[in-house]
Amino acid sequence: MFKKILIANRGEIALRVQRACREMGIKAVMVYSEADRDAKYVRLADEAVCIGPAPSGQSYLSMPAIISAAEVTDAEAIHPGYGFLSENADFAERVERSGFTFIGPTPESIRIMGDKVSAKQAMIRAGVPCVPGSEGALPDDPAVIKKTAKAVGYPVIIKAAGGGGGRGMRVVHTEAALLHAVQTTKAEAAAAFGNPEVYMEKFLQNPRHIEIQVLADTHRNAVYLGERDCSMQRRHQKVIEEAPAPGIPRRLIEKIGDRCAAACKKIGYRGAGTFEFLYENGEFYFIEMNTRVQVEHPVTEWISGVDIVRTQIAVAAGEKLPFTQRQIQLKGHAIECRVNAEDPYKFTPSPGRITTWHMPGGPGVRVDSHAYTNYFVPPNYDSMIGKIIVHGDTREQALARMRTALSECVVEGIKTNIPLHRELMVDASFVAGGTNIHYLEEWLSQRER
Ligand code: ADP
Repeated sequence: MFKKILIANRGEIALRVQRACREMGIKAVMVYSEADRDAKYVRLADEAVCIGPAPSGQSYLSMPAIISAAEVTDAEAIHPGYGFLSENADFAERVERSGFTFIGPTPESIRIMGDKVSAKQAMIRAGVPCVPGSEGALPDDPAVIKKTAKAVGYPVIIKAAGGGGGRGMRVVHTEAALLHAVQTTKAEAAAAFGNPEVYMEKFLQNPRHIEIQVLADTHRNAVYLGERDCSMQRRHQKVIEEAPAPGIPRRLIEKIGDRCAAACKKIGYRGAGTFEFLYENGEFYFIEMNTRVQVEHPVTEWISGVDIVRTQIAVAAGEKLPFTQRQIQLKGHAIECRVNAEDPYKFTPSPGRITTWHMPGGPGVRVDSHAYTNYFVPPNYDSMIGKIIVHGDTREQALARMRTALSECVVEGIKTNIPLHRELMVDASFVAGGTNIHYLEEWLSQRER
């Protein structure tokens, strides 16, 4: 096992990885930007290295700074967390070439999955069902584009091959709007992702976002840990996640889960990963694979009893998965609410000094956060400052526990979206379960009136 790991991230996930290291007897090196210098999780680390000023381009995205930090501290492996460099194949490659272990899949896997066109092609080959659409990237020929859209059937969605974070997508309802939409998406994709390639998919009207968590080792073992329902989204950003997904027959989950695990073996995948699907009318359609740990991993940890971060580290060190598929037994129901430093009505970021931070506890409650009273939320990064996760024997119990947990929260000095979560936990449709990906935005637009 590794003796020392460098954590190339910040905030709650940096603390989460640090906790796993501590539990495993591994020394944790934290890197931090000047904006995170005083954060407690940085102080708690065995060692900490400043890698640059606040803007992430000069710190958390700086490959040379991070690799130098690993060199000076004699770390053996680098955990990238999520976001930042976690899905950057060049980074994974540079880490390995510099003699460190990258805690994640191979650079090749990251590269294939990072390009949505090649990811889809790999999935089709591996027998994973995909959204019907163009076979590969769209060509320049307007006639071919029109023909493809006609064959797929309107509405269609034009998506950037290099897209991510909900950006680089455009829905098209009529042929009249098609070519302009393709051109605009291409131009945007070139500017935002450095890759003008776009592809076309059928636009599903009312799907749910269901994803499958997988874990694979370097000994050709792969398992899936059930699914998560992440349909409660605003601007393609997840707000609430839960597991299992309400109302989806287990045999359908088992079928798609087996496909995902088989695909991992086929593509030589290692580490943790997530297959994201849209689910509509009893069918799953692959949209993308995330080759890293996800924000919402705790809901799966809770129903499966598997420590995903610990397992990531263990398989990166060459260990075999300590369980087989048959040993994975899912228990109860888990729900996660993302706590963002933002206005709960207008969604404008609300960075600043937290003057009171009181988080809930009790049976079935887990809080993953690096925040505390007197913590300063820097304005430079994502507004998510923590996650409240609950578990219950049933979904009803989990909901009741989340309501209680949210009622105990006191955060002062900054605004958070906790009031929004309180409202959603008593919303009749959410409580009934099975809302689709548009539900939250529709609910928000009703609320505004
Ligand atoms: P990103 O990598 O930017 O998150 P995804 O491919 O995962 O992009 O898509 C993000 C979201 O966009 C999905 O969760 C869904 O809400 C919507 N979306 C993507 N593809 C489709 C589609 N074919 N039909 C309907 N909605 C889609």
